[in-house]
Amino acid sequence: KGDKDEIIREINIRLAGFGGNVPTDEFTERTENMIKQFQRDYMQVKETGVVDMNVIKAIDEFQEEYAISNTIWLQLKCRCSAKKCNGFGNGLGKNTSPEQSNPYEYPGLHRSLLFGFCAINFYLGRQNVYRVREVSSGYRCSQHPQGKTTSNHRGKALDIQFNKGTWEIRLRKYKNIEPLKYIRDNFFVTYLNAQRKWSNINLFTTEPIGLNPDDSIIDKKHTYSWIHMDVRTFEKQYLLDEYFCTDATTLNKEKLITLINK
Ligand SMILES: [Zn+2]
Ligand SMILES: [Zn+2]
Repeated sequence: KGDKDEIIREINIRLAGFGGNVPTDEFTERTENMIKQFQRDYMQVKETGVVDMNVIKAIDEFQEEYAISNTIWLQLKCRCSAKKCNGFGNGLGKNTSPEQSNPYEYPGLHRSLLFGFCAINFYLGRQNVYRVREVSSGYRCSQHPQGKTTSNHRGKALDIQFNKGTWEIRLRKYKNIEPLKYIRDNFFVTYLNAQRKWSNINLFTTEPIGLNPDDSIIDKKHTYSWIHMDVRTFEKQYLLDEYFCTDATTLNKEKLITLINK
C-alpha cells in the first residue's frame, strides 16, 4: 500500500467495476479492497488483496472474457445526425468545472466507466433474470439532438437498458421503476459501490430513477427506462484526456503481463 506505478494505475482502471476506483497510480485502500473483491468474485480464490501473477493473469482474462462487443461499440458512439463528429466529439468547448455543466467534449469515453460496464456484465452473468440489452446512449457531442442539455454524456456517462427475462424494460412505464431500482441497488450499488445521486466525489454515480404512478415524468432529473451511470464526480486529475478511449485498442491497451515484462 502506498506504492506508485503506472501498472497500479492500469489495475485501478481495469478493475474499477469491482468496488469502484479512480485512475490513480497509487496502491490505495480502495485498490486493496478492489483486488479482494476481484479475487472473491471473479477468481474465486482466497482474498489476499495482494497483486500476484495469478491476479495479473486473471485481470487479462477478465478483459478478454468481458470485452465490449462491436455491437456495443457502435451503440457507444455519438449519434448526431449528418455525422457532425466521428463518434466522440470534436474536442470543442472549454474544459471547466463543475463537471455538471462542463461543455468540453472529452476525446472519447472514460476507461474506468467502460470497465465498470464490463463488471456489470460479469455480475449480471451470475444470475439469469436480468441482462443488458443495449447502450441506448453513450457519447453525445454538442451537435447531438440531446447534446445541448447534457454535458455528462460528452465522455463521462452511459445510458444502459435491460431485459428482465424476456421482458424488455423500455418506454415510459411506471412498472419499469421497480426492476430498474432492483438492478441499481443489487448490482451497481452492491458491486460497483455506485452512489444514487451526485453527493460524494470519486465514485460511480447512477442518476435517480423514478416516474409518477400514472406514467408521467417527475422531472428531467429522473430516469425511467434506463440506468444512467457516470463518472461526473471524479476530480479533475482523474478526468485527463488520456483516460478517455475511442475503441477496443485504446480501452484495453496492452495486456498487463506484457506491461509487467517490459
Ligand atoms: Zn456527435
Ligand atoms: Zn444519461
